Amino acid sequence: MEKSHLGFDVIIVGGGIVGVTLAACLKQTDLRIAIVEAQPLDVVTQRQRAYAMSLLSQRLFQELGVWEAIASRSGKYRNIQLSDENFSGVVKFSRQDLKTDFLGFSGQHQVVLESLQASLRGYDNIRWFCPAQVTAIHYQSDQAIVELSSETQGNLNIQGALVVGADGPRSLVRQGAGIKTRGWKYWQSCVTCVVEHEAPRNDVAFERFWGTGPMGVLPLTENRCQIVWTNPHAEAQRLKELPPDVFLEHLEQHTGPQLGRLKLLGDRQVFPVQLMQGDRYVDQRLALVGDAAHCCHPVGGQGLNLGIRDAAALAQTLIEAQQRGQDLGSLAVLKRYERWRKRENLVILGFTDFLNRLFSNRIWPVVWVRRMGLVIMAKFSPLRLFALKLMTGQKGRQPRILA
Ligand SMILES: Cc1cc2nc3c(=O)[nH]c(=O)nc-3n(C[C@H](O)[C@H](O)[C@H](O)COP(=O)(O)OP(=O)(O)OC[C@H]3O[C@@H](n4cnc5c(N)ncnc54)[C@H](O)[C@@H]3O)c2cc1C
Repeated sequence: MEKSHLGFDVIIVGGGIVGVTLAACLKQTDLRIAIVEAQPLDVVTQRQRAYAMSLLSQRLFQELGVWEAIASRSGKYRNIQLSDENFSGVVKFSRQDLKTDFLGFSGQHQVVLESLQASLRGYDNIRWFCPAQVTAIHYQSDQAIVELSSETQGNLNIQGALVVGADGPRSLVRQGAGIKTRGWKYWQSCVTCVVEHEAPRNDVAFERFWGTGPMGVLPLTENRCQIVWTNPHAEAQRLKELPPDVFLEHLEQHTGPQLGRLKLLGDRQVFPVQLMQGDRYVDQRLALVGDAAHCCHPVGGQGLNLGIRDAAALAQTLIEAQQRGQDLGSLAVLKRYERWRKRENLVILGFTDFLNRLFSNRIWPVVWVRRMGLVIMAKFSPLRLFALKLMTGQKGRQPRILA
């Protein structure tokens, strides 16, 4: 059967939060954008996860006009606390440190993705192919051709100046282009769940380090919080399978008195964690963003924030190139994006790996050194402020939303 050919400037493979953020950053340009998503839209939005989202992500969402829709359904935290098991030296950060209204917010996957999707409605330059499978990509000197197979739209070829891989950690776009990665799988998995807590106070996000791995507690709306609890694989699996009351008892011992009694809402899930960095983020007519390019340990809640920053940086690079009349898929243009983001992401990948290794450890000299580190950090404001700015996305080159 003859295949139809459709022309675009940018073809984004992957309609998760990072891919859709990129489309939203480009929506007001005259670029023609295709978004190819393998799963039906209602399935993509259903992921049960809330993310710690940085002030930078908040500012970008504001510039994209989606912040109000997200803010009305998200918890905002005004304080962050870091602590080591039951050691008294707690490092506290507050919104006064940065003179902001809050230090971050907990964005639920569904809320963030639906708000971004809604912001694309009415833009004729954006077209969805969903659900659609990419069956092949051919990179040519002047264009890339993406072969799609879709139950609803049939088999078709679309072509564009640039293909963007926003298709997550197992990215077929990255693998198909032969881009190798470096990194490792951790010996740990994360158990995630949402709990309702007895204590009414709900504006503190805390990261509590245990010898088995860090535990992140992220305040949601209505006295609920998201738990991301790192443990060795077998222990994480065991925690998932414990009867709910036994699990909660165990959890309460680890969250401490701060939250009071807990009630489990919904299922527990287990995710193995990895560190990964693509050897390249770009090739001729190809760019990678988000988890397709890099993954990090969830400690400190950085992964998605890095991906959103990639999307905004790539959009800024493309818009500036278009204004100069340059080919959007040329290596010269795309290298600007890679130089901007690859090194900055590596800093955060290294920081999260360092935190996890330093704290997931029961060797006494290491415990002593890290506890001294917490005491010094708690008392030495410049160090505390540096760490806070790094975690909230205030360090490095700041992307802007251009139209
Ligand atoms: C337990 C845990 C907790 C975390 N907590 C945080 C946190 O608090 N803060 C934070 O910033 N980050 C956090 N992260 C990291 C965060 O989840 C990821 O960085 C983020 O989801 C990556 O988004 P993405 O859009 O790049 O990829 P994904 O969310 O994986 O989206 C990829 C999309 O591409 C689609 N797709 C895949 N293959 C194809 C294909 N061949 N064709 C078309 N479409 C395709 C998929 O269906 C999907 O919709 C956490 C991670 C874990 C595991």
